[in-house]
Amino acid sequence: MHPDLEKLLDLQSKDLALKAVDTALAEVLDAELALDDRLKRAERDVETTTRSAADTAARRDELMRRVEEYKLQQQRRQQRLDQVKNMKEANAVTAEIDLGRQLLAREEGEWLQVAEELGRLDSRQAAAEQVLAEARAAQENERSALSARRAQLQAERGVAFAARSESAARLDRPLRTRYDRLHNSKSSNALVPLSGFSCSVCFTAVPISRRAHIRDRLLIEGCEVCGAILYLPAPVEGTA
Ligand SMILES: [Zn+2]
Repeated sequence: MHPDLEKLLDLQSKDLALKAVDTALAEVLDAELALDDRLKRAERDVETTTRSAADTAARRDELMRRVEEYKLQQQRRQQRLDQVKNMKEANAVTAEIDLGRQLLAREEGEWLQVAEELGRLDSRQAAAEQVLAEARAAQENERSALSARRAQLQAERGVAFAARSESAARLDRPLRTRYDRLHNSKSSNALVPLSGFSCSVCFTAVPISRRAHIRDRLLIEGCEVCGAILYLPAPVEGTA
């Protein structure tokens, strides 16, 4: 086997191990984000219902203030009625009192409606608070499991990355640069086995003239189409 092939295979296996850790880590982060999203939705519900309840309470208080004011005005009219001098004045004040009573009844009716609405909003707000509290409690175990897994994977990633760097350092710089460039730009492997005399990723055949460049199972110049560094897989023992 070409000494570089051995180093390349080793580096690639270290990169695959690193990728596996990164994939697992991404899954943990996704799961944590999904938990965050669920909480955020519950928090938004609490915010919305709290705001509606506060707005409605302010409207109820304003109506109450007006009701009190109308009541006071009615009392004053009543006092005036007690002091009128003649029938004409009495009729005028009585008309005012009737009108005031209608206004008061309307405001009181509205106040009642708003107070009822506030009752409904208060229970909706309490329900939203409960959903949020339950979601938080339900997530506790899952979150601590995820957090432990994340810490473990981050440690594993450090080890995998160090192993990868150590392996990469064993390659000569030009080959390492070429491998890294392929590794970083391709979704498939940088180093791929030949299938017959074709690249096993893009299935481009190695021209007969270039097959002689395969040294100790390694063709560093690689695939003419996808650029992958090519190698001949080891013959399975007993079949060669
Ligand atoms: Zn190819």
